[in-house]
Amino acid sequence: MERSTIVRVHEGLHARPATRFVKLAKGFESDVELVKDGKAVSAKSSVKLMLLAVKENQEVTVRANGADAIEAIEALIGYLENPHAGLDSEAGEAASDAPAAVAPQGASPIAVPAEGTAKLQGVAASEGVAIGPAFAHFPAEIEGPGRRLQADEIDGELERFRGAVASVQARMDRTLAEDSLSGGDRGIVAALRDIAADDSLTAGVEKFIRDGDDAVSAVIGAASSIAADFSAVDDHYLNARADDVHAVGRQICLVLLGQDEVSLETIPQGAILIADDIGAWDLARAPLKRIGGVVCGHGGATSHIAIIARSHGIPAVLGLGDKVNALRNAKVVAIDGNAGHVIVDPNEAARAEFATRVEAAAQERAGLKVFKHLTPSRADGTVIEVAANIGSLEEIEAAQEAGAMGVGLFRTELLFMRHMHLPSEEMQAETYSALAKAFAPHSVIVRTLDIGGDKPIAGIEFPDEENPFLGWRGIRMCLDRPDIFKKQLRALLRAAIHGNIKVMLPMVAEIGEVTRTRALVAECAAELKAEGVPHAAFDLGVMIETPAAVLIAPALAKEVAFFSIGTNDLTQYIMAADRLNPTVAKLNDVTNPAVMAAIELTARAGVAAGIMVGMCGEAAGRPDLIPIFIKMGLTELSMSPASIQRAKKTIAAMAAEK
Ligand code: PEP
Ligand code: MG
Repeated sequence: MERSTIVRVHEGLHARPATRFVKLAKGFESDVELVKDGKAVSAKSSVKLMLLAVKENQEVTVRANGADAIEAIEALIGYLENPHAGLDSEAGEAASDAPAAVAPQGASPIAVPAEGTAKLQGVAASEGVAIGPAFAHFPAEIEGPGRRLQADEIDGELERFRGAVASVQARMDRTLAEDSLSGGDRGIVAALRDIAADDSLTAGVEKFIRDGDDAVSAVIGAASSIAADFSAVDDHYLNARADDVHAVGRQICLVLLGQDEVSLETIPQGAILIADDIGAWDLARAPLKRIGGVVCGHGGATSHIAIIARSHGIPAVLGLGDKVNALRNAKVVAIDGNAGHVIVDPNEAARAEFATRVEAAAQERAGLKVFKHLTPSRADGTVIEVAANIGSLEEIEAAQEAGAMGVGLFRTELLFMRHMHLPSEEMQAETYSALAKAFAPHSVIVRTLDIGGDKPIAGIEFPDEENPFLGWRGIRMCLDRPDIFKKQLRALLRAAIHGNIKVMLPMVAEIGEVTRTRALVAECAAELKAEGVPHAAFDLGVMIETPAAVLIAPALAKEVAFFSIGTNDLTQYIMAADRLNPTVAKLNDVTNPAVMAAIELTARAGVAAGIMVGMCGEAAGRPDLIPIFIKMGLTELSMSPASIQRAKKTIAAMAAEK
């Protein structure tokens, strides 16, 4: 029997919804197929489902054959029409694989390495400095022996293959069961385990073996063919899954060959791991506490490797390309994850300099611990809130460990960027509620989606723009897309009952942007009331990061509950110097008198209106500038957790001077 419907799963049956659909289908004995445009695939294989590329609003047919066919069709059609009903909450999973956003900042300033050392430039993917023995990890490509099997060898080879799959799955299960695995790492490993368990891969390999191929060649053949299918789909997320299929295929081959992956288990304490590419699974289960730093030919700031390195506080420089080969025989490597530099076999002077920086950072960290519980105040007794900038729930612990007095900037774009579909209201409400609960009674300032064409995300079509930094981004995009914005506002209103949620708008340039947002908030609150959904009001503030906002600050201050100065963007817009362009880096200086004047104008307007003025740009954590900002009237400073104790110390010292 069969039934057709229109798919209402947001963004279609991509990886996560496909996995859920398969989980549901596997709960039934019947054979179940999903049919689109005349093409039918098993509903019990997530790889096949993903490759069917079912999009939202397309018509599909669910076909079932077996004792429980009616129930299967009902449940699967139900999921396609209303994906949020019935299944496990999306929130837990989504929260657990949100990425770590902001790396802990190295305690020492970026120093120029000594003369006479070979310095390679890569992508600064995880902050901090390190020097240590090189641990080169360049596993050889696996080639199939290309042996043709005799007819009487086939059953044995099939058994060998099934045993290898079972052993890879068991290894992944053991990794998943480890308490030490962080939520984010667990999400990555679980996705790979799904592939190892998928019928498309196993059935493909078994077919090759039945046709007479040896198991290793069969795995390579089947994995390459599935990977090619993923690469051919017009979708960046699915293209990246090709690497995952290769990685899983490699693991199965290694078991078949009786070889161990050149193991990361033996990495010495403090070593710098060097590789062309490292599988996310390999890194997640490596002894991360021993790894001093990571250097890779592949990868960028948002790759899985960068996310894992940042969440474990490991400095990393990625994206070196072929230059990484220069490190194959290195003995000692020094890396600066703040600047993206790698120094191969540093000379004595550079070694000494790095050792000093690493030691100074460690000593400083140890000495600052006494400031963790301090509530710093000005000489007149006004408390200065020293809060954390974070971008995911995994960073809560680090922020609390550092002594954060709440969150001054929760960057929500990572929630949106990590998934291949827009996050649901439910998932967002769970995430914001968890934050509010974790820091109550301190406030948690959630910034509404701040994204533009330079960082496209699935589910939002951005136009091609000549200057995306001056384009359709932040509050501009959100106000044009109330379907997206209202979900976020509704989620924030719902989370506000769990703690002290405040909401902040990015890239504001006009008062109208605030009044239009207020109207949408009122609309969302009225809807929630009518639906009987518990919710509470929140304070609405704005980031001051455009010159326009500075110049209208006195009027803006009358409309909002607080200002938070975003010095990163404010500096680039005041100085007309792209914050990502190294050739104009000198102009991109917050201490330039023009930028400092803009900060002062903002502070004066906020103080005169009696609203809180805070800062959440990088400058907020600078000990040399904190006294100036506090004298200007700022009462909240939000920064990377790693800078919090130093900032508290600076404020305490300032008060003591009086
Ligand atoms: C800023 O611009 O200062 C800021 C904090 O926001 P972001 O760095 O996320 O643009
Ligand atoms: Mg900004």
